[in-house]
Amino acid sequence: MIKFLLEFKTNFWKDFDDETGFLLTDEEIPTWWTQLPSESNLLTGWLGGPNATKKIFEPDPSLLQIALLSLSSIFHIPPAMLKEELSNYKIINWLNHPHVKGGYSYNTLYSDKSKEILATPVNNTIYFAGEAICTGDSQGTVESALQSGHDVAKMMIGHLRSEKKE
Ligand SMILES: Cc1cc2nc3c(=O)[nH]c(=O)nc-3n(C[C@H](O)[C@H](O)[C@H](O)COP(=O)(O)OP(=O)(O)OC[C@H]3O[C@@H](n4cnc5c(N)ncnc54)[C@H](O)[C@@H]3O)c2cc1C
Repeated sequence: MIKFLLEFKTNFWKDFDDETGFLLTDEEIPTWWTQLPSESNLLTGWLGGPNATKKIFEPDPSLLQIALLSLSSIFHIPPAMLKEELSNYKIINWLNHPHVKGGYSYNTLYSDKSKEILATPVNNTIYFAGEAICTGDSQGTVESALQSGHDVAKMMIGHLRSEKKE
């Protein structure tokens, strides 16, 4: 997954639609979002999956150019004009980050069994929580990490209560 953070001198996209939030397009960098409801001159671009993998070693200036071309096509503004409007940018290429090497987690064939093993408390003393062991619908998100934390805390409290009764 590659994220593009582009800050412009103005939020020119408001000229097209005052309510622009998410833009889902067919461009090379297909997904964009604004900071709505906050007023901001920042646009975030997002590229994931195999198309991001193809660009793993692409240098930032080249990725920036691709991003500007995508925006140029979306908003019908010449790329040179967009470049002129750009005040700052940061491209986060998670794929070639040595401690990340990717983006969101996803299940493989044995994930369910592995997660079951990983989620088993040790002697009712050490408990494991986190997105890595979550089996719900929202895999790969902070939401699932929170859900897992909540579920494991409940399990611990349940265990403490049953111990007190004994
Ligand atoms: C590039 C990227 C982009 C993402 N974007 C989004 C997004 O836009 N929205 C969204 O909802 N989710 C996003 N996610 C997913 C989200 O970040 C994770 O689902 C979430 O952080 C999981 O939380 P966690 O607490 O379970 O685990 P983590 O946040 O991974 O926390 C685990 C912690 O344990 C520490 N740790 C590991 N091993 C040890 C050890 N042996 N001893 C001590 N500490 C250790 C780690 O350093 C880390 O701090 C993204 C993930 C990535 C990688």
